[in-house]
Amino acid sequence: MPPPTAERFTVRAVLDRLLAEPPPPADPTEVAAVLAWFTEEAEARVARCPPEALPLRLPKARIESLLACERMTVAKLGALPLSEALVRGRCTDLLVAQHALTGLTADAEDDLRSALSARADHDVLAWIDEADDDGRDRLWRHAGLVREALRTGWGPIDSAWWARPQESVRVPVADGALVLSCTFDLALGGPGTGRPWVLVEVKAGTARDGNRSDLLWYSLVAALRHRRPPDLVVAWSAADDGLVPVPITAGSLEAAGRRALAALDRLVELAAGREPEARPNPRCRWCPDIDRCPPGLASLDAPRTVSDRTYLDDEQDWVADDEAGW
Ligand code: SF4
Repeated sequence: MPPPTAERFTVRAVLDRLLAEPPPPADPTEVAAVLAWFTEEAEARVARCPPEALPLRLPKARIESLLACERMTVAKLGALPLSEALVRGRCTDLLVAQHALTGLTADAEDDLRSALSARADHDVLAWIDEADDDGRDRLWRHAGLVREALRTGWGPIDSAWWARPQESVRVPVADGALVLSCTFDLALGGPGTGRPWVLVEVKAGTARDGNRSDLLWYSLVAALRHRRPPDLVVAWSAADDGLVPVPITAGSLEAAGRRALAALDRLVELAAGREPEARPNPRCRWCPDIDRCPPGLASLDAPRTVSDRTYLDDEQDWVADDEAGW
């Protein structure tokens, strides 16, 4: 019997398929109704917030954090110290950006050092220089892996896609009392390019189904900004060259909106002074408050489930300067 010949599921294959068979757009009337509903609901919630706590900010990572544990969200309001996981995530984003714009050389370390210098990421460069040999080896080994996955799974990105790394989107709601935000790791095509609109979320680790909720938030913020949703959002995980694609419909936008409103309910109450609840969860071991949180400490002794183990510390997001604070 001949071996299976199914094409590997890669970024390259997904982009080619989108060009060959552009997906039908989500129903514009239904999309407009969902966006109007979400905006109205968000405005009503923000109106309950004391004016001195405004503006509120709702970036992607805060939604997940609020729904997981309010106390962890409050602990993370300040700047987080650099960690190996954050640096690895940052480097992965930069490798993808350089691959999409100019292509990578054979030396991933040199590419990364140049990119970090060009962006004046001096704290990341200093972290790398001060890391021990094992930490640096792990970082360059991972960078080599990312480079190889980009070469085999992505291939060159046609300039007609208008690749836009780290595209930052801010959507003010209620006259700026609430700011919804996203940084799309890579935007391809879309309005003005004549190509389908694709948003790629880059993860340093391996594929996990939990990426879907992040992707839906991307699509909702993009739709609020441009009054139409992207055609496809995908999470690409560098460590296994994995893909989680999510086609966008009015229904998926509504699901993203309901999740964000649940998080916003909590954010408004916390900003108004309610004590944050501690809810032990798989993120406890990476929580900045773990040493001061008895329920979190106790949870570390509990047997870990499969879903716990699939949560990776390199899923943490880089926090933009204007996303700190409430
Ligand atoms: S240690 Fe766990 S329960 Fe405690 S604040 Fe952090 S995430 Fe919440």
